[in-house]
Amino acid sequence: MKKIQMVDLKGQYNAIKDVVNPSIQEVIETTSFINGPKVHEFQKKLENYLGVKHVIPCANGTDALQIAMMGLDLKPGDEVITADFTFAATVEVIALLNLTPVLVDVNADDFNINIDAIKKAITPKTKAIVPVHLFGQCANMEAIMDIAKEHNLFVIEDNAQAIGANYTYSDGSKVKVGTIGDVGATSFFPSKNLGCYGDGGAIFTNNDELAHTIRGMVNHGMYVRYHHDVVGVNSRLDSIQAAVLDAKLPFLDSYNDRRREAANKYDKAFEGVPNIETPYRYGTDDNHVFHQYTLKISGGDRDALAQHLNENGIPCGVYYPIPLHKQKAYLDDRYNESDFEVTNQLVKEVISLPMHTELDDEQIECITSTIIKFVNG
Ligand SMILES: *Cc1c(COP(=O)(O)O)cnc(C)c1O
Repeated sequence: MKKIQMVDLKGQYNAIKDVVNPSIQEVIETTSFINGPKVHEFQKKLENYLGVKHVIPCANGTDALQIAMMGLDLKPGDEVITADFTFAATVEVIALLNLTPVLVDVNADDFNINIDAIKKAITPKTKAIVPVHLFGQCANMEAIMDIAKEHNLFVIEDNAQAIGANYTYSDGSKVKVGTIGDVGATSFFPSKNLGCYGDGGAIFTNNDELAHTIRGMVNHGMYVRYHHDVVGVNSRLDSIQAAVLDAKLPFLDSYNDRRREAANKYDKAFEGVPNIETPYRYGTDDNHVFHQYTLKISGGDRDALAQHLNENGIPCGVYYPIPLHKQKAYLDDRYNESDFEVTNQLVKEVISLPMHTELDDEQIECITSTIIKFVNG
């Protein structure tokens, strides 16, 4: 059996080498390393794939979130509501811009931001909501957009983990995740569902004016060369990363299919096993792209299971072990522990299993049987 990895980037690269190498080579030959034609080509293809008017490539997913918020012209002290159970980048950029992060609890089933908690957290200072489509499944965007409309709030989607997923509205129509709010942000970090070979990110919007603002912001606030109209940043997707992404984008749907197939096999193996709860999925199959496959282990055995897996050469991860409201950088007197019951419980129960495009049946069987043997004692 091939060694089991949390993410098998090498296996994936070997399978597409013949497409990726020439794409990278082309950039090197032309030496258009910054803002070269590959960046524009990839941008156009991604706009087409997502069905969104504007994609603005940038240097990484954290920058994408930050620049999206800069583009909305939020003011210091404005409150931005986001989930307590996510990667720190989301809350980090809110704090960096001197906005006030307001963390709220998530759902126990799909791990995404809780709608009642959002409603409860709204004050006259609230200006935006940042739903994170955690582990590859879209948050309840229909409800979030309704709240936003009612209270005149911006919605910034953190789509770092769910690129390629569809969101199905209650009338059955579908749209790509990340294109529903005022603006969406994604990451092309190597282990993400669409990963490059370094850092990369992008911002999505259907708003022409906002797209124009953001395009200047990623490049020192310049709309005309050497004319700086707004304070910007230097955040570009370099041409070599764009070449990798341009070569990989046509594979994204099949990659997400492979992740779903692995998730289906995991689900089946764990059916009826006590103390194991498999990830909840709502809507149609294409709503979840399984950036992570995350189990909940009840009965207090999560840490012992993680240790057992590691001792048996099976990697696993705990995403995330500490709620953001308990992180030193983001402590705030306004929070009550009783408002974070779900997150406080999830951090003790969640465990993510190997999930990538190269998992084979033998590996899945080894992972699931090791876990089942352990929980059955
Ligand atoms: C990966 C990730 C980011 C940050 O992306 P980088 O490209 O690493 O800066 C932001 N939010 C979430 C939810 C992520 O998973």
